Amino acid sequence: MKFSQYHITEGIKKSISKLEYKKPTDIQFKSIPPILKGEDVLAIAQTGTGKTAAFVIPILHLLHTRKIFGRQDGVRCLVMAPTHELALQIEAVFNNLGKHTRVKSFCIHGGVDQAPQIMQLDKGVDVLIATPGRLFDLVSQGALILTRVEILVLDEADHMLDLGFIKDIRDLIRHLPKKRQTLFFSATINDEIKTLAYSLVTKAIRIQISPKDPVAKNIKHAVAFIEMDDKRFFLEYLIKSNDEQKMLIFVRTKVRAERVKKALERVDIVTDTIHSDKLQSERELTMKNFRKGDLKVLIATDVSARGIDIPNVEYVVNYDLPETSENYVHRVGRTGRGSQKGQAVSFCSSEEKEVLVQIENNLGKPIERLEISKNDYQYTIEISAEKSNDWKSLLKDAEEVPNRKKKKKK
Ligand code: AMP
Repeated sequence: MKFSQYHITEGIKKSISKLEYKKPTDIQFKSIPPILKGEDVLAIAQTGTGKTAAFVIPILHLLHTRKIFGRQDGVRCLVMAPTHELALQIEAVFNNLGKHTRVKSFCIHGGVDQAPQIMQLDKGVDVLIATPGRLFDLVSQGALILTRVEILVLDEADHMLDLGFIKDIRDLIRHLPKKRQTLFFSATINDEIKTLAYSLVTKAIRIQISPKDPVAKNIKHAVAFIEMDDKRFFLEYLIKSNDEQKMLIFVRTKVRAERVKKALERVDIVTDTIHSDKLQSERELTMKNFRKGDLKVLIATDVSARGIDIPNVEYVVNYDLPETSENYVHRVGRTGRGSQKGQAVSFCSSEEKEVLVQIENNLGKPIERLEISKNDYQYTIEISAEKSNDWKSLLKDAEEVPNRKKKKKK
């Protein structure tokens, strides 16, 4: 099936071909037809599967072709997303795909002044993409009317629950009309998510994407056994031998993110970090540079990178193993987006082997091993240690980073 065969507005098809989407992904193939028919959908799909366009395409068509009442009467579609980054990303997909439609999309999130957001809402918005906290604030202040909502989307519902948004969501639902179309997306499913989902949807079409192998087929992922103290040498080697590639490196904590950055800078590798200690404006600038490719190596923590869509990340490195298999799936899912190919490697030290076993148990299969011979292992360390002349003192230096005042990078 090709996009040209769908009964959707020509303007949307034009934007789809501009984005060079050749054919629908699995989730798009399964969800676009029922959404176009006005049905509720409950979809279990990870990011990276094309799930955003799976709801954006039919919503744009529905809103574009339905009769428009006065925009000032309130928003017609509400999309809730867990983080600023994800909300902005969804807004970008609405804007890209909706360029040749009459649909006006707008994103609101916390951490910034609300006055300009209220001004924009007063002017009139069709699709509002929002994080639950700011959304709830504006509704409480009477600055946002939700009585006209025809379509409600909950994206990454599991992550919203993790972040404790359940009460905000429940409170908000009371402001929405009962007769509406609801689209519920989650990467994982458990009893709590099921309860929330079934309290929102009516006779939903259930869609589940690759439940057996949560890591997309186009991602080649492997684990390499590397001791904690040696990890930085292998990271340096990996970056330098793939210097044209865009790399996303995951670490366990924000303190470690800064340490790894410092260690890489000492061997002349330009990098930046994204984590919750950074200002929203800093995070946005870093993401912009990384998206554009001006920054090739980005170090991130789990929370900051969840759900982020960065085109063309060729390599994901788990510098530290994640604590859960869910995070493993999310991290490696940052590469191989849509139909692109991707590669991921996890550094696993002796201390982390137990976590690896748990991750593999939950994934339901072993992760491929990247064998490193004893000689190659030693050689990598020696070469790196030679170049970074006095690395022991450098590391000591890096250990002190968390105590220093954070300064703007790049
Ligand atoms: P998502 O799962 O929504 O975060 O999307 C992941 C990536 O897949 C994004 O970079 C999209 O631009 C890309 N994408 C979405 N749909 C398609 C498609 N039909 N063909 C190729 N790439 C796509």
